[in-house]
Amino acid sequence: MTLRSPIFRKLLFSAFLLIAATLLALDFYLTRYTAARQTEQVQRRLTSEGLVLLPEVSDVPPSQLEDWTRQAAARARARITVVDPSGVVLADSEHDPETVENQAVRPEIREAYQGRVGASVRHSDTLDRDLCYVALPVRYSTKSGFVLRLALPLEELDTAIAAVRWRIVRASVLAFVAALLLVYLFSANFTRRVRRLQSFAETFVHQRGTGTLLPDADDELGALARSLNQMTAETQDLVERLKLESARREAILSSMVEGVLAVDHAARITFCNESFTRILGLPAGNLERRPLVELVRDPELLEMLHQVISSGAAVKRRLELPAADGRSFEVQAAPLTASSGRGAIAILHDTTELERLERVRKDFVANVSHELRTPLTAIRGYTETLLNGALEDPENNRKFLGIIDAQAARLNNIASDLLVLSELQSDKHAPEAERICVREVIEAALLTVESEAGVRTVRLICGPIADVNVFGQRIRLEQAVVNLLTNAIKFNRRDGEVRLTVERAENGDVRITIADTGIGIPSQDRLRVFERFYRVDKARSREVGGTGLGLAIVKHVVERMKGTVNVQSELGKGSVFTVSFPSC
Ligand code: ADP
Repeated sequence: MTLRSPIFRKLLFSAFLLIAATLLALDFYLTRYTAARQTEQVQRRLTSEGLVLLPEVSDVPPSQLEDWTRQAAARARARITVVDPSGVVLADSEHDPETVENQAVRPEIREAYQGRVGASVRHSDTLDRDLCYVALPVRYSTKSGFVLRLALPLEELDTAIAAVRWRIVRASVLAFVAALLLVYLFSANFTRRVRRLQSFAETFVHQRGTGTLLPDADDELGALARSLNQMTAETQDLVERLKLESARREAILSSMVEGVLAVDHAARITFCNESFTRILGLPAGNLERRPLVELVRDPELLEMLHQVISSGAAVKRRLELPAADGRSFEVQAAPLTASSGRGAIAILHDTTELERLERVRKDFVANVSHELRTPLTAIRGYTETLLNGALEDPENNRKFLGIIDAQAARLNNIASDLLVLSELQSDKHAPEAERICVREVIEAALLTVESEAGVRTVRLICGPIADVNVFGQRIRLEQAVVNLLTNAIKFNRRDGEVRLTVERAENGDVRITIADTGIGIPSQDRLRVFERFYRVDKARSREVGGTGLGLAIVKHVVERMKGTVNVQSELGKGSVFTVSFPSC
């Protein structure tokens, strides 16, 4: 592992370079030093040998000079040459003096001519090696200006240099092995520590690790570990805060009934809440980065978002979205600036129910006005007729007054029913809910409608009345039962019957049933009879003094008591109204 690590290779390479450079420098200086020492030694030896020979040479006759040089060379173990003042070689231990060229220009000879010991090192082409020369001024045959020169090949120099080089090579190998070992240990330690930091950083990134890293040394890596610790703590803190913020935002957005959609500059979804996917019937799952045009087919909404993205100005529009079953929305779109470019955020507020309620309110006002206008017109008409002379008409004046009285009573009924309805719709005037004995309510209601039943010759039959209680407002329940009984009497036939029962259903609910033998309700009107002012037969309803609000009141009362009301009916045979309450 360590051997393949780049840091190990780099360090090893650097160490190698350093060692190589050091060794080259060492080689350069040591070989020169050794050569200098060696030469100096040879020169010293030659000089001392020369000084020993000096006294001898001056007395050797010229004819024996040749022999003497050879003997002296053997003793001194050096080549010996005798040169005259003009540079001519008089005798040479190794060559015939005739063949040796003039030596006057040789540096050591020139030096000796000047009375000093001359020395030099020259390469000999003949021997193909360096030779060390030492020349000494000598008197020969009582004449001065002669030179005795001793020469010796620097044979040992190569050996000495080779020995130095060999030492250097051994030292290099040792240094390299030591460097290898040191580099290995250092990089193993370094790599281990770096890996530790790396795995800590990776754990932090991938698994959102929460641990801390103990700094293992007081060096740069230790400082890096400390910085990582600090960064981890700060990042964790930041992540926690972001998580909290994002959870808060998610909770707010997902609990919103309004659809929220955010898109980027290319109209790709960056966020949408559950309400938005529900409204547009989009598939569940992650829709992020999906192009909006793939998912939303409403051109108006797409056009609106494109407009906001391109213009950067907020837009508010009321849209009917076919993808949302034609429901109406008030859409507010605003620009959303991000680093990648300008996107948009849209909030879809469903106004369908609001619009329906608005319609209902308008219809209601129109209906109320219409309902009030009919009796008022009648009252005004008959009052004018009376004022215009009918008052004196003994035949009709009482009849007209009777009509005015009936219409006034109708107005009164409408007004009081409207009041009850409005009270039922607002919590302000609601009486305290209480435990109500159903039997008592039924008895009181029967008493109220008894006379009307008598007038219309309708028989009231009380079936089994179970001894049960419900929870709610007594006066309202009584009113609801009276309304149902009144309808059952009003829309009955002559000598018809109204059967009332109170029982406990299998599921424990209290069930009040009022069945009549009247005209019945056409199936298409059965659900609508609970709407305000809805009547199956307007003329008949008016004739029997109905306001069209009775069943609307029943529905409200029952719903306030958490109950339900249903109707079953057969035209010409009768209707059965069933009211169910949870018992208490
Ligand atoms: P109304 O004051 O006209 O009775 P309601 O709201 O009580 O108003 O009833 C609405 C309409 O439902 C009535 O006009 C009538 O056409 C129909 N209806 C209600 N109860 C009965 C019933 N028992 N038999 C037949 N029709 C009924």
